[in-house]
Amino acid sequence: MRIAGDWLSCEETQTVCRVLTEAGHQALVVGGCVRNALLGFPISDVDIATDARPEIVSDLAEAAGLKVVPTGMDHGTVTVVAGGKGYEVTTFRRDVETFGRHATVAFSTDLAEDAARRDFTMNALYATADGEVIDPLGGLTDIAARRLRFVGDPQDRITEDYLRILRFFRFHAWYADPAEGFDAEGYAACAANIAGLETLSRERIGAEMRKLLAAPAPSEAVAGMAHCGALGVILPGADPRALPILVHLEGGLAPDWRRRLAVLGGQDVADRLRLSRADGNTLRLIGDEVGSPRQAAELGYRHGAGLGRDILLCRAALTEMPLPPGWEADLARGAAARFPIRAADLMPAFTGAALGARLAALEARWIASGFTLTREALLDTPES
Ligand code: ATP
Ligand code: MG
Repeated sequence: MRIAGDWLSCEETQTVCRVLTEAGHQALVVGGCVRNALLGFPISDVDIATDARPEIVSDLAEAAGLKVVPTGMDHGTVTVVAGGKGYEVTTFRRDVETFGRHATVAFSTDLAEDAARRDFTMNALYATADGEVIDPLGGLTDIAARRLRFVGDPQDRITEDYLRILRFFRFHAWYADPAEGFDAEGYAACAANIAGLETLSRERIGAEMRKLLAAPAPSEAVAGMAHCGALGVILPGADPRALPILVHLEGGLAPDWRRRLAVLGGQDVADRLRLSRADGNTLRLIGDEVGSPRQAAELGYRHGAGLGRDILLCRAALTEMPLPPGWEADLARGAAARFPIRAADLMPAFTGAALGARLAALEARWIASGFTLTREALLDTPES
C-alpha cells in the first residue's frame, strides 16, 4: 500500500527524512498523517518516527543547517524546522513501566515496540518518505473497515493513560463507521474506567473535547460518553440530547465546537475545560441569549450575523422548536443596521447615568421600529 500527498512529497518533509536516512537511520512519517492520508482527511501536522536517538537527530539536523528545538528531549522528541515547517521527530520508544499517565519510556530501535505503545491500530501506521506504508499491527484492515481498535488490551491501555478514554470517543467521532457503532471491548473498558478521568488535567480534557466537538458528526460519540458516565465525570450537568438536533439544523455549516458545547450545557464548563477567556465569554453569551426573548434581527444587531445564527440554532435545538421564518434575512438586516445616535448628540442635556439610560431607551425604540426610526425622529422622542 502506498500513500501520496503534497505534505509528503514536499521539499521540507523530504529534507527532514533525508537528513536521517542518509546517515543510515530510519525516518518514517507516523500516526495521524498516515491515517488521514489513507482515509482521505486533511493533514494538519506531520510527525516523524526514527530509530536515531534524540541527540543524534539534533546533531544531524543542525549539521544540515536546519533549526532544532529540543521540545521534549527526555521523552525523545525534537522539533526540526525545515522551510518554516516544524516536524516533531520522535525516537522509537517502548513502555517500561506505567503509573496512570506517567509512562516511563525507554528508547528503542525496534519499530514493533514503538507501534505497541501507540493507542489505536489506525494510529500505529507508518510510511517511508516515498509513501510505502508499514503496518506492524493490522491497522490497514481496521482503516479499511473504519474500525477504531485499541492496540493490545483496552483495559490495560486505558489504565496506563486515562486520556485514551477521551481519545477513543474523539477518534470514533471522526473516523469510525457510524453504522458499526463502538468497538464493544474498547467501549466496555472505557465505561469501566471513567473514574480515572478525574486524574486528568483540565487542559488535556479541554483539548480533547474541543477536537471531539469539532468533528462533522460528534453526536453518537457524545451520546456514548453520556451513556457510560464519562460525560458526567468531565462535564457534570451536561446533557447530550440537543446535540443531534443542532447538528441536523447546522446543515452544511462548518462545525464549531463552541456552538456544540453550548447545547451540552453543564456547570462551570469554561473552567472545567480551561477555555480561553474569549471562548468562555462566547459560551456564556450563547447560553444567556438562548433563554432571552430577543429575536433574530436584534441578535444580528447586537452580536453580528455569525454569533446571532449560533444563538438561534442552539435555541431551536434546545427548545425543539423550528427556526423562525425569515431568520437569515432578519439576522443580516440586524447585523447591517447602525444606530444613528451618539452620546454626543444627547449632551449636554443628558450626562452621567441619565445619558446612559436615554441612549438605551432610544436604542430600544429604534430596534423595536425594525431599525427604521430616523435620527431626527429619535431625537424628538419625548422623555418618559
Ligand atoms: P490529530 O493530530 O489529527 O489530532 P494524531 O493521531 O496525530 O491526530 P496526536 O495526538 O497528534 O494524534 O498524536 C500523534 C500519534 O501519537 C498518534 O497517532 C498516536 O500514535 C500517538 N499518541 C498520541 N497520544 C497518545 C496516547 N495518549 N497514547 C498512546 N499513543 C498516543
Ligand atoms: Mg497529530
